[in-house]
Amino acid sequence: MKSIEEIRADFPLLNKKVYNKDLVYFDNGATTQKPQCVIDAVNDVYLNYNSNIHRGVHRLSDLSSEAYENARKTVSSFINSAKHQEVIFTPGTTSSINALAFSFGERYIKSGDEIIVSYLEHHANIVPWQMMCERKGAVLKVIPVFDNGEIILEEYYKLLNSRTKLVSVTQVSNALGIILPVKQIIDAAHSADIPVLIDGAQGIQHGIVDVRKMNCDFYVFSGHKIYGPTGIGVLYGREKFLDELPPYQGGGDMVDKVTFEKTTYNELPFKFEAGTTNYAGAIGMGRALEYVTEIGRENILQMEHSLLQYAMEKLSAINDIIIYGKSDQKVSIISFLLKDIHQYDAGMILDKMGIAVRTGTHCAQPIMERFGIDGTIRASMCFYNTHEEVDKLVEGLLKVVEMFS
Ligand code: PLP
Repeated sequence: MKSIEEIRADFPLLNKKVYNKDLVYFDNGATTQKPQCVIDAVNDVYLNYNSNIHRGVHRLSDLSSEAYENARKTVSSFINSAKHQEVIFTPGTTSSINALAFSFGERYIKSGDEIIVSYLEHHANIVPWQMMCERKGAVLKVIPVFDNGEIILEEYYKLLNSRTKLVSVTQVSNALGIILPVKQIIDAAHSADIPVLIDGAQGIQHGIVDVRKMNCDFYVFSGHKIYGPTGIGVLYGREKFLDELPPYQGGGDMVDKVTFEKTTYNELPFKFEAGTTNYAGAIGMGRALEYVTEIGRENILQMEHSLLQYAMEKLSAINDIIIYGKSDQKVSIISFLLKDIHQYDAGMILDKMGIAVRTGTHCAQPIMERFGIDGTIRASMCFYNTHEEVDKLVEGLLKVVEMFS
């Protein structure tokens, strides 16, 4: 097991200064920093074997195609999909959900059908479904939450009915850090034969994702939130659905035979990967997942749990702090406000101290409205953060309070 110093040395950006201060990076919910091995893997593509995949008969194309398909196998084993053909590469979570919303809508949705999401969703798991509902005359239903932000399962069960065609919920709330009871959500939907999509954008970084154990029908995530490059992500789908769903984009690589009269489509996963994909990104993401496996997912969870406990204790001791989303089921994301101080002011002052937090609605306006606020300060920590960094955040917040008092 690597020490925290060794882990931090793997991430070049963590050792940079901001305004001549040591960087404290607490915005891992937005994107994570990249270990050197991921940067090297992407550089290696461009330095040594860059070539378009699945197209050439030449050596370089073989090498890049093989590395790309190996990355798919790495993703497949990381999330434990039954087949690697069930892993579709996309530009990210948002693209994956939009793709599915289009294809699923075309294949299965008619007027009056219903899709269920929760109050905790990121806009990426709301708007594509609203667009699809508008196109198809379907209706979006929303699982309500308690005042602490946990979803009300009883109300969810009541929403399920014969018109429900899909349940699409996040694994972890990006705004509050609350972990949703996805197993119960999936089991209840399945008992009524309704498929479930899990938005794993935050879950993949803070959990041990096993799509077969979870028994979800679709799972989506972004590479950049799990120490991989930007512009690459995954749409996992159960084969039976991916076989039935129509492609959402046409073009190169997704076809079997093209004539002006009729085109037939390629087999899985290529049917859903039209055009030149971000193969360098996929290879980088594969390396990131290997890195996470090398550190150990259990170890990561333990380190993050310890950070969360420590930060909750320290932050709770600050006078006039209001913490949103207090729950036993939480990842290392804390959302809060300082009474009578606007979150942007606090965020800007912290920034000058070298502390990067996120402020605003976190692309989750409905849950902010549910709490009657226009945003929070969010500290999202991950395994490379330290208890000393939490102390710096607390010191910084105390200074902010002092400046405004
Ligand atoms: N879903 C959740 C829960 C998220 O936290 C995010 C990003 O913060 C997204 C979806 C969108 O991810 P991306 O911007 O990588 O497509």
